[in-house]
Amino acid sequence: MPAPVRAVPAELKPVRLIEGSTVREFAEKLEVKPKDVVALLFERGVMATINQTLNAEIAREVGRAFGYDVSFGAFEDMTQETEFEITPEAMEDTDTRAPVVTVMGHVDHGKTSLLDAIRVARVAEGEAGGITQHIGAYSVEVPNPDNPAERRRIVFLDTPGHEAFTMMRARGAKVTDIVVLVVAADDGVMPQTVEAIEHARAANVPIVVAINKIDKPDANPERVKKELADRGLLWDSWGGSTTMVEVSAKKKQNIEDLLEMILLTADILDLKANPKRLAAGTVLEAKLDRGRGAVATVLIQNGTLKVGDPFIVGNFFGRVRALIDDRGRDVQETGPATPVEVLGLQGVPSAGDQFQVVADVAKAQQISSFRQSKARTSALARSAARGLDQLHEQLEAGEIKELLVILKADVQGSVEVLKETLTKLSTDKVKVRIIRSGVGAITESDVLYASASNATTSGAATVIIGFNVRPESRADEVAKQEKVDIRLHSIIYKVEEEIRNAMIGMLDATTKETVIGKAEVRDVIRVPKVGSVAGCMIIDGLIKRTAKARLIRENVVIFDSAIGSLRRFKDDMSEVAQGFECGITIERFNDYKVGDIIEAYITEKIAATQL
Ligand code: GDP
Repeated sequence: MPAPVRAVPAELKPVRLIEGSTVREFAEKLEVKPKDVVALLFERGVMATINQTLNAEIAREVGRAFGYDVSFGAFEDMTQETEFEITPEAMEDTDTRAPVVTVMGHVDHGKTSLLDAIRVARVAEGEAGGITQHIGAYSVEVPNPDNPAERRRIVFLDTPGHEAFTMMRARGAKVTDIVVLVVAADDGVMPQTVEAIEHARAANVPIVVAINKIDKPDANPERVKKELADRGLLWDSWGGSTTMVEVSAKKKQNIEDLLEMILLTADILDLKANPKRLAAGTVLEAKLDRGRGAVATVLIQNGTLKVGDPFIVGNFFGRVRALIDDRGRDVQETGPATPVEVLGLQGVPSAGDQFQVVADVAKAQQISSFRQSKARTSALARSAARGLDQLHEQLEAGEIKELLVILKADVQGSVEVLKETLTKLSTDKVKVRIIRSGVGAITESDVLYASASNATTSGAATVIIGFNVRPESRADEVAKQEKVDIRLHSIIYKVEEEIRNAMIGMLDATTKETVIGKAEVRDVIRVPKVGSVAGCMIIDGLIKRTAKARLIRENVVIFDSAIGSLRRFKDDMSEVAQGFECGITIERFNDYKVGDIIEAYITEKIAATQL
């Protein structure tokens, strides 16, 4: 029986909900009756109680039926927004905060030495032992030359180099206020120097140049300045806008000058934070510590964090059990622009995750369990259409000369074969280069690597190919955020065909695959004469009787065929939607195990629109 048709109003009212809102919260916000929402959901094949969280897509669809344009915001963002609503005076309470600095530069130009020199010069002073702990960042105090009683702080991120910086950006975290670019005076501008400049520019972060190793006899700072000018960084004494300081990390020369220039740059940026609001920050590092449980180093970026504060970090809820500063001291609270170790997490978050103290503990727990369940039921494989289509356009426009491939497969043999096959596809115009390969699921690190390569290699695009393997759920999430293209295949010539088509700009004529739903095997039922039936719960999307299907076990494709039967109780179904249980068989397959995932997909031939 077709669902009753509702007239959809032409003008939709925008409404914003927190991710993971329940049916009840949804109804309240839209000012409709919860039972009407439940009824509408039922019409769409979703059985939900009013305390159940709503899937974003369905919420949008149901919202439209009520005349609303529903969008979702991250809990952290909404908390920040509402907090300002509640306390308009919050803006008046802002104070100047310390700048956060990342040191970048070519390998061996002295990044680590410079960080050490700064630490020794500024921290050991008057503090026995100085910083003994490594927590991913440290702060130093710099006296004001005009008024030595006044001291200002600078925070240094302790992992020099591009990877940490890029990874943070890939996660959408903005941590660094100023980049100190280290260039060795005896070596000059090198490839990673250029890369660092590109990273900083892309992130819109100002650069202070430290020309290092000026103690060396063959040091030539003037040449470095010229080379930097060629890269668009013109020294301020030559009329440009880039501050450059000549230093020696080894001899600890001019370190104070460098710190002063960093502070001057910070003054221009006019960095502010409000110590009175709920603390918010970003995870710099996290680990599972034997004695202490999950521990995260968090850079507090706003507000003041106190022992006892409830918070949400990444997918996890927690309550601050202890705070340890960069000198290894236990502290009761800590203000904006400070790195601090936080104990009391319920799980290990990832570097780059947001950290947000919450006022509403129940809400925070709801969000964290929503996020964890979302992470568990790994997101739908992305619609196959996107990235490479763009690539096609860029190829046509002559913008791309190189296709970078990250290759993951179920067995080493496939890795080898694919590597060889794909590399051979290179032509004079377009090169295929495998930048990483290996056996196993597509990991978050693969995605971040792809994203970093996209950002740093001009004239190239990166694609990840999974051959009989799947992305881990976190990898999938990051890929979506970062718009990294993941292609999943199980036939070698298909991979070849796709890559070749992408290269010659004929992608439009290929077959596109769309995953429509996923079911988890909860039970295996033996039926006499028939064999085994997988008792399933649809965890994502929709399973259609006519769809093709794969059986996935621990992220590896075990079997690829089609749905053989789809039943609810005794009835044959043409489709079953998320949230429902059903019995599924896959054609020519009989070996289901509890925990297996059945992935339903459809393929369509896309007619070529142009050549
Ligand atoms: P990174 O790879 O950029 O972290 O570089 P390191 O800090 O590890 O330094 C690389 C090498 O350069 C080491 O052997 C350092 O001792 C040396 N070095 C670093 N700074 C200076 C400096 O100011 N003068 C001299 N002469 N050598 C330096």
